[in-house]
Amino acid sequence: TSDRQTLEARNVHVSFGGIHALSGVDLVLNTGDILGLIGPNGAGKTTMVNVLTGFQASKPGAIILNGKDVSRLRAPEMARAGIGRSFQAARLFRNLTVLENLIIAGLGMGLSKSAAAAQGREILSWMELEGHSEQLASSLSYSSERRVSIARALALNPAFVLLDEPASGMNEAECAALMRIITSLPARMNCGVLLIEHNMQVIMEVCDRIHVLDGGRSLAEGCPDKIKSNPAVLRAYLGDD
Ligand code: ATP
Repeated sequence: TSDRQTLEARNVHVSFGGIHALSGVDLVLNTGDILGLIGPNGAGKTTMVNVLTGFQASKPGAIILNGKDVSRLRAPEMARAGIGRSFQAARLFRNLTVLENLIIAGLGMGLSKSAAAAQGREILSWMELEGHSEQLASSLSYSSERRVSIARALALNPAFVLLDEPASGMNEAECAALMRIITSLPARMNCGVLLIEHNMQVIMEVCDRIHVLDGGRSLAEGCPDKIKSNPAVLRAYLGDD
């Protein structure tokens, strides 16, 4: 559609001392799509999310949002520009209710209190959290807390949502429920989703495209069927090189 948006990483390089966490990675995420980001431990997946959200600079390299270079934006400005993420440690206001946490996010985006509450309720229904709206954040179960942290990221109305292992620590049923919700987000919000997830079966089911990192370099990108049968990807995962 005409309101398609694009988030691009070009030639991303990040080093920590002598460790090349990312070396020359290009990646494109479009609204409407779910892009899986996979790779063995230490491949650079989390570092890539940090670069795309302004938490980590790339030198050289650039982040391009709808054709505009946003490489110099810091994390809060990236969030305002429409690039959202959820955090491992949920960072919720624990003494407030679930809905109040979402209202605060909406107010921060300039909504009136009633608009922020209406938006919050809608997002809670998408996340299948309606029953928790009046609950204190401090009293949530682990898996509900993780869902609320995603809901809060959505309350900032992002064009792009970057999710770093959102199902980690969940059991199989909780993971399946969360993935069903994540699959519905691009159509609901006209957003693009970048998903890091270790379970290969989950990734293959949920993603439109998959980008494979290995040792800080791009190994392959394509649709799940192509990635599944890519010899270089199989080698990286089986480790027989
Ligand atoms: P995992 O699947 O284990 O979470 P990953 O693919 O997310 O791994 P990153 O966490 O991005 O990989 O790490 C890439 C490399 O950069 C690793 O070698 C890691 O040890 C290193 N690294 C990441 N962050 C830092 C840091 N802040 N300081 C030093 N080294 C770091």
